[in-house]
Amino acid sequence: MEQSMRDMQKISKDWIEKKGFKCSLYADFCHLVEEVGELGEALVVKHGEREAGDGKKGFADHYDIAEELGDVLFSTIVIANKCNVDLDMIFRKTIKRYDKKIEKREIGNH
Ligand SMILES: [Mg+2]
Repeated sequence: MEQSMRDMQKISKDWIEKKGFKCSLYADFCHLVEEVGELGEALVVKHGEREAGDGKKGFADHYDIAEELGDVLFSTIVIANKCNVDLDMIFRKTIKRYDKKIEKREIGNH
C-alpha cells in the first residue's frame, strides 16, 4: 500500500493520540537527534568501522539502516505535526530550492 507523506502524518498523529504520548517539542527534538545518531552508528557499521552486536564491548547495537531511517522519519513527522508543517508541500519546495542552488552552483558535485 502506497502512502503519501500526508497519510504518514495522519497515521502518526492518530497513533500518538491513541497511545497517549505527551512530550514537549524539545523532547521530540532530542529524540530526533538520538535517532540521527543511531543512523550514524548503523552507517559506521555498514562502512566497516564497527561490528554489529549488542552494544557491549564496542559492538554497535544500531546497525539496521532502514530501521534507523524509519525512526528518523517518524521523529521528523512528529515534529512536523506539532509545528503544523505539511511535509508533502515542504518536500516539493525543498526540491525546487535545491534545483535553484544547483543552478547557482551552491551545491552539487564540484
Ligand atoms: Mg532508532
